Amino acid sequence: MTKRIVLIGHPVAHSLSGAMQQAAFDHLGIDARYELWDRAPIELADAITELRGDEFLGANITIPHKERVVPMMDRLTDDAHVTGAVNTLTSEGMKLVGHNTDVPGFKVALDQLVGRQKMPRQAVVLGAGGGARAVVYGLIREGFQRVIVFNRHLHRAEGMVKHFARSAAHMELRAMPWHESIIESELAKTKVLVNATSIGLVAGESPIPAEILPADLLVLDLIYARTRLLADAAAAGCAVADGETMLLNQGAAAFTLWTGQPAPLEVMQAALQEARSRGLRSAEGEPAEPAEPAGQAAEPAAGDAGDAGVDAASDAASEPAAG
Ligand code: NDP
Repeated sequence: MTKRIVLIGHPVAHSLSGAMQQAAFDHLGIDARYELWDRAPIELADAITELRGDEFLGANITIPHKERVVPMMDRLTDDAHVTGAVNTLTSEGMKLVGHNTDVPGFKVALDQLVGRQKMPRQAVVLGAGGGARAVVYGLIREGFQRVIVFNRHLHRAEGMVKHFARSAAHMELRAMPWHESIIESELAKTKVLVNATSIGLVAGESPIPAEILPADLLVLDLIYARTRLLADAAAAGCAVADGETMLLNQGAAAFTLWTGQPAPLEVMQAALQEARSRGLRSAEGEPAEPAEPAGQAAEPAAGDAGDAGVDAASDAASEPAAG
């Protein structure tokens, strides 16, 4: 019987996960089909019930359901429990287990961005959604001592900080209001900037103005595209990376959970890049309007620094993923 794995989100039509996972199943000769289920929040519970059938190996969960699905699970792994977000489901008989493979995916992306440097201890995170939860938890686990979260709706950032109160008891984890001057002053004190908002999906849009980006920051944008933020940051002299490594590695971890086999990372990465070259660019259940056609910079940056920026973004994104 062909096994089924589904991605549940709203919308999902433009997700890259299908291309990446199907290529991995086909490569290893596993008789499985990855399906995209577009389900509105009101349909989520029924979709989860349907997954209890024999033919399902598991599922991925994406925007906007990662937090909503948590109480529908029979069991949560530690990463899912602590983050309060689930992006992968597996079946144990009739029981459903919720995992969060964004956490290990983020770790690989952070390690790759930091490279041989000493792991920094201060970070600024933009955003407070499901992706930001994996980021903040990853930073806490990595031993960061000061993490400042900015979000458009401050109460959501405050809720997330409260959620992590126990895990972050030994360090400073704070939510701050989204004012440019406050972000600027925090960026001056930090080493790592992570964009976990969806600002940047639309070409030319950036969560923060280029002028407030100091040089020498390490900048990770979870969006799977060469965003305006990354171009600006690279032009300012920062090291940058987009969401590819995290996407690839969260997918690889999910693949292993479903199949018990090591994921064919190179095959998955090639499938991602092929899908990207066809114009698909959504790492998650993102809006269909493309920010950027594949392989193009968000906006031509001026001068040499701009060119270097685009290259830096591209290099960081195309390095082979580890782990
Ligand atoms: P959520 O919907 O849970 O959160 C979206 C976040 O973006 C919130 O912080 C929201 O702020 C903010 N936001 C959205 N629109 C605006 C706006 N116009 N102005 C200011 N803030 C805005 O999504 P996720 O956390 O799951 O995903 C966020 C991004 O990260 C997406 O682009 C997604 O693709 C990417 N991602 C990538 C992954 C990867 O593997 N590379 C993994 C996970 C996520 P507010 O709360 O105020 O609405």
